[in-house]
Amino acid sequence: MRIGVLCLQGAFIEHMRMLESLGAQTSEIRQKRDLSRSFDGLVIPGGESTVIGKLLGDLDMTADVRGMIESGVPVFGTCAGLILLAKHIANDPHVYLGTMDISVRRNAYGRQLGSFACTAEMKGVGNIPMTFIRAPYIESVSGSAEVLSVVDGNIVAARQGSQLVTAFHPELTDDTRVHEYFLGMIKDK
Ligand code: GLN
Repeated sequence: MRIGVLCLQGAFIEHMRMLESLGAQTSEIRQKRDLSRSFDGLVIPGGESTVIGKLLGDLDMTADVRGMIESGVPVFGTCAGLILLAKHIANDPHVYLGTMDISVRRNAYGRQLGSFACTAEMKGVGNIPMTFIRAPYIESVSGSAEVLSVVDGNIVAARQGSQLVTAFHPELTDDTRVHEYFLGMIKDK
């Protein structure tokens, strides 16, 4: 199984290590021609959504990545990756990939609570450690998007078909269950 990891900016190495520790092969996606390969899944990491979104555009990759997702290649977006997949961003006029029926708020926890950790339940995964770094949360889901986790009244994980998003960073913990869940989505396809 080969997972393409978008390596334009942000916490991509941690995703690659975690996926490889679970037996998946990973490939770095750094430029348009890297997308010509076939992938069983795609990871869009955390970082700065404005930077990753701009680079996707500048490198002429937005439509290709969107097309892969729309053709059903399973995708896992963490934090900035969640923002990039959203069809609506409450406090940003941009829509980047816009493939998932979620409305999100960037930097939703304000300065004081910008970064925090907790343990909470994620549906289908269990009780897991969650690390939030200047995180967004999901204000609402629509269509076939399903809420997988709520922390303090805010939606922090969701799934719509073959798209999975978390506002937190499972790749920065040593708990591999969210990545196992994603690999399970690929196997079940
Ligand atoms: N604050 C970042 C953004 O708005 C997301 C932070 C993260 O990915 N850890 O894109």
